[in-house]
Amino acid sequence: MRRFANFIDGEWVEHAGATLPVDDPSTGEQIAEVPDSDTTVVDRAVAAARRAFDTGSWRRMSAADRADRLRALARVLETRFDGLVDDLVADSGSTARFAPMMQVGAPLAHLRDFADMAPLLAAPAAYPVQTTPGFGQWELHREPIGVVGAFSPYNFPLFMAVWKVAPALLAGNTVVLKPSPLTPYGPDALARAAAEAGIPPGVLNLVHGDRVAGEALAEHPGVDLLTFTGSSAVGSLVMGAAARGLKDVVLELGGKSPGLVLPDADPELAVRGMLFSSLMHAGQACVALTRMLVPASQRDDYLDLLAERAGAVSLGPAADLATDVGPVISEAARQRVEKLVSAGLEAGGRALVGGTPPVGVPEGGHYVTPTVIVDAAPDNPVVREEVFGPVLVVQTYDDVEHGIRLANDTPYGLAAGVWGGDLQRARQVALRLRGGLTWVNDAAQADVARTPFVGRGRSGVGGELGPEGLFAYTVTRSLYTALDADVGARPYGVVGSEWE
Ligand code: NAD
Repeated sequence: MRRFANFIDGEWVEHAGATLPVDDPSTGEQIAEVPDSDTTVVDRAVAAARRAFDTGSWRRMSAADRADRLRALARVLETRFDGLVDDLVADSGSTARFAPMMQVGAPLAHLRDFADMAPLLAAPAAYPVQTTPGFGQWELHREPIGVVGAFSPYNFPLFMAVWKVAPALLAGNTVVLKPSPLTPYGPDALARAAAEAGIPPGVLNLVHGDRVAGEALAEHPGVDLLTFTGSSAVGSLVMGAAARGLKDVVLELGGKSPGLVLPDADPELAVRGMLFSSLMHAGQACVALTRMLVPASQRDDYLDLLAERAGAVSLGPAADLATDVGPVISEAARQRVEKLVSAGLEAGGRALVGGTPPVGVPEGGHYVTPTVIVDAAPDNPVVREEVFGPVLVVQTYDDVEHGIRLANDTPYGLAAGVWGGDLQRARQVALRLRGGLTWVNDAAQADVARTPFVGRGRSGVGGELGPEGLFAYTVTRSLYTALDADVGARPYGVVGSEWE
């Protein structure tokens, strides 16, 4: 069984204290254990990151040089591609068909995309200014903020870590990464590759653990910025810590995103897009479109098509190439999803597909039957709460205005989809939906690091990716250089004349 260690100041630190088990969600068997790090471990990691930031070379290197190290990091990870896919199938329960692209390929592409953004960090042109009297010059410099405390979730363990580590490092910060204890393989591989890619000791530190380590990192006075991806509940705690410590904060949180199907949509495209989006990775994607809104007049046709397509989806072990939908991450997650489905059915929803215990799956695995729920009222918990399991809810609307109102009727605002034949009309509707990432006639495009990823409401604060996401890891220095040596030209005389 693999025993993971923390990575602090360029060294792998064996952990003597308590550990947390890592299960394979497909079988429920323990495959590894990670340190349940305490505050002393976090203190060491933050001290290392602090030293590396305050006195090390990283922040003084050019952005182009740091970008080269990120590319080297991607190259190292690329050499381990197949092994990484296997590891991430095993710890995250991501299917063997989905994992190569979304768990490994996309993070590597994003690492390189981030590296290509290095020119954005160059100092912008200087602005000569004429004061009265005298003259000088202002320059704006984008500088790193300092030590970044990064928290990543279990669903895309390498990808979400890269979304934080890559821009933070590119901008010249140092990082303490605390990943989900459920999925340590990706973050471990990232730290190993960083060492091989010539990223100096202390620049990237990895601390495994859960709530104790998370709270210690969030509250640590040596940390300057908190960047968190995970549930809205924990995100709110992290923001509380940021408020207490007056730290910068970036939060990427949960969602309950709508897919609005307009009356002129292609039903096949809409149904397949919605099923892909809501069932991929067993529904454990933050941007999953989990509420499908169809015109009331076309309800029966859509339900027939959904029943046929969703009924054909196969549930099984993640490593099996025939599997469409794998397990959810843990027994606790399985129970939570089942409870929410039951609550939805008790509150008036009807299971069009699923809603029953899984059959023909390995004993001990954390499986949930892919489920489509219809006839749930807008206040039904399964319509309002993030399920984070393979569950799609279908709602009906009377006219498009009603559809837009229903689509926007949740506290979240992460992603949205619109299906329609008239593209201009569909785009206009898309722009009225509450969400940062919005698709027209698709539900799967999220693989470009240059496109900002921004949640509204309970879905987040600030955003990741794109130039804005990179600049979140910088602070702007305004540097003024006086170019006029004449002391008489300065307004200093004011002091003499008024206060002496
Ligand atoms: P989670 O909130 O349970 O955990 C996220 C991280 O916080 C983990 O590293 C965890 O160990 C840590 N943590 C737990 N308690 C903590 C505390 N008190 N203080 C500080 N850190 C603490 O989330 P999860 O279950 O791993 O991930 C699923 C959630 O993530 C879903 O809600 C999903 O929508 C969201 N998510 C959002 C995005 C996005 O970009 N918006 C992307 C992926 C996942």
